[in-house]
Amino acid sequence: MNAPYYVPPLEDMRFLLEEVFDLSGVFGQPPYEEISFDIARAVLDEGGRFAAEVLGPVNARGDAVGAQFVDGEVRTAPGFIDAYRQYRDGGWVGLDLPPEYGGQGLPLVIQAGMAEMVTGSCMAFSMLPLMGRAAARLLIGHAEAALRDTVVPRLAAGEWTATICISEPQAGSDVGRTATRATPRDDGSWSLSGTKIFITFGDHDLAPQIIHMALARTPGAPVGTRGLSLFIVPKFDFAADGALGARNPAIVTSIEHKMGLKASPTCVLNFDGARGFMVGGEGNGLKTMFDMVNVMRLEAGIHGLGVGGAALAKALTYVTERLQGGNADAPPVPLVDHADIRRMIYTMRSRIEAMRAMMFETALQLDLAVTAGSAAGRATAREQAQWLLPIGKAFFTATGFEVANLAVQCFGGYGYIAEAGVEQYVRDLRVASIYEGTNGIQAFDLVVRKLLNDEGRRYGEFVARIRRDLEQHAARPDLLDIRSALADGLARLERVSAAYRALPRGQRRAAEAGAAAFLAMTGRVTSAWMWLRMAAAATGGSALHRRKRELAAFYASYLMPELLALEAQAMPGAARVDGLDAETLVSYG
Ligand SMILES: Cc1cc2nc3c(=O)[nH]c(=O)nc-3n(C[C@H](O)[C@H](O)[C@H](O)COP(=O)(O)OP(=O)(O)OC[C@H]3O[C@@H](n4cnc5c(N)ncnc54)[C@H](O)[C@@H]3O)c2cc1C
Repeated sequence: MNAPYYVPPLEDMRFLLEEVFDLSGVFGQPPYEEISFDIARAVLDEGGRFAAEVLGPVNARGDAVGAQFVDGEVRTAPGFIDAYRQYRDGGWVGLDLPPEYGGQGLPLVIQAGMAEMVTGSCMAFSMLPLMGRAAARLLIGHAEAALRDTVVPRLAAGEWTATICISEPQAGSDVGRTATRATPRDDGSWSLSGTKIFITFGDHDLAPQIIHMALARTPGAPVGTRGLSLFIVPKFDFAADGALGARNPAIVTSIEHKMGLKASPTCVLNFDGARGFMVGGEGNGLKTMFDMVNVMRLEAGIHGLGVGGAALAKALTYVTERLQGGNADAPPVPLVDHADIRRMIYTMRSRIEAMRAMMFETALQLDLAVTAGSAAGRATAREQAQWLLPIGKAFFTATGFEVANLAVQCFGGYGYIAEAGVEQYVRDLRVASIYEGTNGIQAFDLVVRKLLNDEGRRYGEFVARIRRDLEQHAARPDLLDIRSALADGLARLERVSAAYRALPRGQRRAAEAGAAAFLAMTGRVTSAWMWLRMAAAATGGSALHRRKRELAAFYASYLMPELLALEAQAMPGAARVDGLDAETLVSYG
């Protein structure tokens, strides 16, 4: 097989941005007055070329060699130094950051498209620039002017990089148990001591300076998350002009040996009286950090889409080249002729293309939260994005993993062999369901915080928007299949959410046990909604339009019936998880 390293999905992106979504509320509006479809197309075309030609080739080598810890320092995998230099010099790091800080000032819909291609071509690489962008966004909103003006332009330019330092051995999902201490110094800075674990790119040889964004506890602070404050802890002290000074005792002591994502160093980072600067005020650490986490959460979801999409593209090439089966007295036929292979391709494709539309929908809402003409419009868009973010994070990463797994299946035995280049996708993607808030925590967030504790406002608007689209296309007989499947799915979701809302406060554990199934339902309903919109726009005779119509029908007839089971699982009382005491449940062997 002679497959390219990575195939950027530019045709599909163009279809979505130019034929499906209405971007008139973003392109041409402040602060995006200069942005047009021509610019979006040019940026994504160039980004696709970069992903295919520069990042794609370092992906497999990075997996084979991995990041190394040598003489107390992290050395990145072969090719990473050159790829990062090109990425930085191309201005890609600050694509959506404001121009006054050296960014390119593009809306998130364009950044999201780029993120899919960077992630799909080399997920391990994509982690680094993502953290720089996310930290810059946080600092623009919360840092004091002097600090902001020194650090942000350097992050935006990719001259410096950033990390996110939350996890500790005893504080994983339970961030409130953070034990790292920060004590005040006479000069207004702070002294941090403690150990952070699993810190992505906690050290590397790609840039001279690293800005660690770390949560720590100040003296006398209350227990739990209310006692946490946020600090920036630089690898080297720095002056206002950016000149680097003494090495700060923020030292990586080891890196992890992992299942996948081997070229992304995952570090144990020790703060031993390291100098830090508070950002966002004492006790506001977690709230402030969420400005970084939310940027990263969208992209953690995009990992599922990007890597799943890359696996799909490899499978599409393979099933046309590999010959197996057919009549014994005739030449063998390509795999793509077999019904079961077609089922897998239809499944992978219809799931990936729905997720790509969901990615743009989420990014569009985040953009509208800035550009919408009225305060109410901006608030609604922000709330819609907040509703979609946990769905995107958990549904994309779980679905992308399943798609990558199906790609391996299409390859048969060769799929299990490293040279084919698909088994890496499964290994790399596995972690995306775990970090950036595990998928279980996302489901809890969706059901408890966004559905139950919000009086259903975000959920109500989500349902209303789907209903409006169903009504808008009610007179289109060609859309009957996908419309009916979507209406049926929505009715099931409505039944479960009504059952959750009817639970007395003390019995919400039943909703927690059903939350994973509820989130899976919302992911499928949102996918079907995207398919309705794509099929409605695909009225022409081109291969792309014909494919869209058929994939919508497939999603309706083959994948939406999964909602029957999911509804049953999500209903309070179905997950009977409390019948056994813990000791009986775990005794084994
Ligand atoms: C490759 C990699 C890179 C990472 N990069 C970073 C990084 O750059 N910075 C950083 O700070 N961290 C990073 N992490 C850490 C990651 O964010 C954590 O692993 C994750 O938050 C989960 O924490 P934990 O591993 O302690 O698991 P735990 O919190 O122990 O969770 C174990 C299981 O229990 C479930 N669970 C836990 N609490 C609850 C609850 N209250 N209700 C229901 N279920 C629950 C979880 O969903 C999960 O399934 C990284 C991890 C990996 C593997």
